[in-house]
Amino acid sequence: MFYLLNILIQMKILLNNTSLIESLRQFNDVGFVPTMGGIHKGHLSLINKSNKLCKKTIVSIFVNPKQFNNKKDLKSYPRNIKKDLKILKQSKKVDFVYLPKFKDIYKNKKKSKITLLKKDNILCAKFRKGHFEGVLDVMQKLTKIINPQKIFMGEKDFQQLYLVKKKLERIYKTKVIPCKTIRDSNNVALSSRNILLDKSNLFIAAKIYEKLVCIKKNIKNKKNISRFLNLQKKELKNNFKIKIDYLELRNLNNLKISTTKKNSRLFIAYYLKNVRLIDNL
Ligand code: AMP
Repeated sequence: MFYLLNILIQMKILLNNTSLIESLRQFNDVGFVPTMGGIHKGHLSLINKSNKLCKKTIVSIFVNPKQFNNKKDLKSYPRNIKKDLKILKQSKKVDFVYLPKFKDIYKNKKKSKITLLKKDNILCAKFRKGHFEGVLDVMQKLTKIINPQKIFMGEKDFQQLYLVKKKLERIYKTKVIPCKTIRDSNNVALSSRNILLDKSNLFIAAKIYEKLVCIKKNIKNKKNISRFLNLQKKELKNNFKIKIDYLELRNLNNLKISTTKKNSRLFIAYYLKNVRLIDNL
């Protein structure tokens, strides 16, 4: 009986494009969850959603060097394929795992022609030059090979979700499905990078989250929101001794600076030690 179950929930590992194309050929309702590994419950929530909405679910694990604007960050990015595969298998929700090598993705040496519009050069795009160009390039390449009906992406990386959705849904017959941010018991957004933080750093991250909730609550009484946020940014910097790239209220639908709380989210990017964390609420 157990043997039979095990066969039914087998997860196939695909190591190159040929086996990927061969394996997916017969399916026309595929959900795709792109990741860079370091699998955590945030990723699993995307996988669960895909499993519910699609007949087959494929997860990719690829640490895309072209989206790192900092060599040190790329080097220290957590990698543990063995552990990832174990978690994915145990979830029993994944049909295929795609583990491409650099050459599978970047077959031809042509430089990516992707450029961001000036209006999109905000938030992380402003502080991580070339990051989203790299993300959009790899997402376009992965989507072309996998040809999924749906792609599941997290709201934790809201700007990424926004840009990828805008780009891919225009080119391909795929839908990008937003998934809620999953947090730990102290409300810190789960991230593969959290493994680089010790307990005391995670404690600070939890306190920062509490403060952000407070700031968001107080926004509605403020006439000049950007002035209020500038003051709050200074306070956060001083109180927690952190470097902050941005603290901004932006409209959910177009990511323009918002002057009202309606349809808006508060976006932050900051460094704890040398680890860059982002969140939005
Ligand atoms: P990453 O492996 O960090 O590139 O993330 C892969 C996907 O998982 C992206 O769509 C992320 O937005 C999503 N993701 C990462 N962390 C979370 C989280 N805490 N909650 C929900 N989705 C997440």
